[in-house]
Amino acid sequence: MPTELEDIVKQKIRKTGPMNLADYMSLCLGHPTYGYYMTRDPFGEKGDFITAPEVSQLFGELVGAWIADSWVKIGAPEKVILLECGPGRGTLMADAMRATKNVDGFHKAVDMHLLETSPVLRDLQSKNLEQYGATWHDDLSSLPKDIPVIVVGNEFLDALPSRQLTWHETGWLENVIDLDINDTLRLHEVEADKEVIEALIPFLIPPKIGDQVEVSLEQQCFLGELMNIVLKQSGIILFIDYGFVHNVAGDTIQAVKNHSYCGLLETPGETDITAHVNFAEISQIAMKKNMMVHGPVSQGDYLKRLGISIREGLLREDATELQRRDLDAAVKRLVGEDTKNNEMGALFKVIAFSSSADVVLAGFA
Ligand code: SAH
Repeated sequence: MPTELEDIVKQKIRKTGPMNLADYMSLCLGHPTYGYYMTRDPFGEKGDFITAPEVSQLFGELVGAWIADSWVKIGAPEKVILLECGPGRGTLMADAMRATKNVDGFHKAVDMHLLETSPVLRDLQSKNLEQYGATWHDDLSSLPKDIPVIVVGNEFLDALPSRQLTWHETGWLENVIDLDINDTLRLHEVEADKEVIEALIPFLIPPKIGDQVEVSLEQQCFLGELMNIVLKQSGIILFIDYGFVHNVAGDTIQAVKNHSYCGLLETPGETDITAHVNFAEISQIAMKKNMMVHGPVSQGDYLKRLGISIREGLLREDATELQRRDLDAAVKRLVGEDTKNNEMGALFKVIAFSSSADVVLAGFA
């Protein structure tokens, strides 16, 4: 049975021709009625995938301590916008706020803002963050002006749509989706258009034949806009995501359902689709804007430097034997480096950008 979204994709292709992967990803994740995030809570063992804040409260608590420490380092402003991009269930923010309730003046300063497009997840966030008076946004244009900003985003950038190109003797070809003679969706290469090639050029060392690269115009545009806000209002941005630190990573656009990979064109709208984040590229975007870049470092190193073992030790004191085993497993998952075993420590990277060059942020050295 084709999904509703598959019919929509096919109709669009019949009408306007082959569809690039970013447009496909946008429809699959964000279609107002049938988009993956619009219709469900995808997280946890019963869902399709698990994110670090859902693995353990340790993650949000340590990020919370980092946020409060960064707030102190930017001079503990009386008001600070705390913006989370793509908060999922709101777990990271809830753990972060609980962990910082004794930081003098911090909760009073926080003006909480959440960037979230999914109505289902907004609902969950409002339940989990009820007492903090958050404001929700569809995009960055409605954020308050003139107040310092601290931004966090875990597994947000990877959800922004990406296009995929390969360098051939004849130039860049782009992977697009069209219909075969049986009216089935298929991947197919066509000559890449100027707009996408130009977006690649500032970031690329000369390509070799067969090099495959991904580029997200949405991500470039979003980061540019976010950095302009933070440069103008002052502040800090933190992103945690899976990704790589060199420019040519090959095919990283992947679909996941029930904790397993599946075909990109299978059951559109019912699988999560992500692309690895190119940390080299996003560092360059920040450097061009004269923002200070911190990292990237691996999630494992970042959490260890923030004191994950000390925090775990404290939680162990009051834990039952079963809870202790869960804690051990959670720490292993968050900082362990065995990527094949779904450990996140090496695959996930952490990067921060600050408007001031003077600030030394915890976790990066
Ligand atoms: N940070 C959470 C959830 C990560 S999943 C966690 O770590 O558990 C990606 C999140 O980004 C979801 O909340 C999804 O609804 C949101 N999202 C995806 N695309 C978005 C967009 N274009 N604008 C705003 N939110 C988006």
